[in-house]
Amino acid sequence: MIDHRRLGRELELFASDPLAGAGLPLWLPAGAAARHAVEEYVRELERRAGYRHVSTPPLGRRELFELSGHLGYFADDMFPPMALGADDELVLRPALCPHHALVFRARGRSYRELPLRIAELGGMYRAERSGVLGGLSRVRAISLNDAHNFCALEQVGEEVVEILRLIREAHAALGVRPAGFRLSLRGPGEKYVGDDAQWARAEELLRAALDGVEFTEAPGEAAFYGPKIDIQVRDAAGREFTLSTVQLDFDKPERFDLSYTDASGARRRPVMVHRSLVGSMERLFAYLIEVHEGAFPAWYAPVQLVVLPVGDDQAGAAARLARDALAAGLRVEVDGAGSLGSRIRDAARARVPYAAVVGPREAAEGAVSLRLRGGRALDPMPAADALRLIGAVVADRGPALLPAG
Ligand SMILES: [Zn+2]
Repeated sequence: MIDHRRLGRELELFASDPLAGAGLPLWLPAGAAARHAVEEYVRELERRAGYRHVSTPPLGRRELFELSGHLGYFADDMFPPMALGADDELVLRPALCPHHALVFRARGRSYRELPLRIAELGGMYRAERSGVLGGLSRVRAISLNDAHNFCALEQVGEEVVEILRLIREAHAALGVRPAGFRLSLRGPGEKYVGDDAQWARAEELLRAALDGVEFTEAPGEAAFYGPKIDIQVRDAAGREFTLSTVQLDFDKPERFDLSYTDASGARRRPVMVHRSLVGSMERLFAYLIEVHEGAFPAWYAPVQLVVLPVGDDQAGAAARLARDALAAGLRVEVDGAGSLGSRIRDAARARVPYAAVVGPREAAEGAVSLRLRGGRALDPMPAADALRLIGAVVADRGPALLPAG
């Protein structure tokens, strides 16, 4: 049975320590390397799609979360406020939206700036009960790939379609296999804000964006402020959860009194689209570890290349290759201890995509013999060609270990 907690331990991706606390995993160097590669990719994808990145604190004054509605509607999932003094209470944020609303209103806004796409890979907190915590899939400290796209009402449809396209692009690069799209709607109960007309309009816009997409409907799964499109994935145990999401919100722009000036000079209220392309880093990696069984695509593998000198005489050639690989931007290690067979097995166990064997003949000719994860061995080739090959696969972010074509 594939389990990201077991693989995470074996591959030294993350650890937990009761002294640190349940649901507060520690990302070890290998896990952090993979995560950072994914974070950089997502930021670059967003940057090219017109997003502006910000950095905001993971906590704020109690009043901020009263205004946002979180303390009224979401308090059960939040840590209790921390009182520093009679009028000074701080709250660990359960979402990034309140801060991003403040970013929007940090100055006056014109219709020319819309859609204004404010993105952040930011920290937030959920007071999960200790019984449900495990590995990376349910945690108390969350690093969310998040953005809030402030739009004029007439821009919302196109914006949501473009977000769905970006989600598909990110999924393809990461090797995510969605289990389905879900339209999450209001259910019975009083945990929802906003009036019926707003909900109906938001639902209509999301349905239009889903035109041609197969989806199921999930009453009761909406956010407290609006309906959403959720892209579901399934973990190795078959449990379904939401990875990516697009949500429409007419409520927070009201609460924060957000406005922009339209072409005629009149003040208008923007619509807020909450979206996450790949969800939280924690949940994403819980999923990626399982779906790839630890064998990540080369572009975010923690170590991309391990150099294996056959004997001590090749230590110099191995060090030179590692230095060139590092200079080419690859994550590389040299393993010179033990028999060649056991080192090849270690590399396979660690799911390293490429092993470069350097024997006497290779060292003399400036060549390497590349072995691909999975066992395939390539004919000896010049070391520079091997680095070019790996570099091309990494730059392409494809699933295969050899360049396409
Ligand atoms: Zn949000």
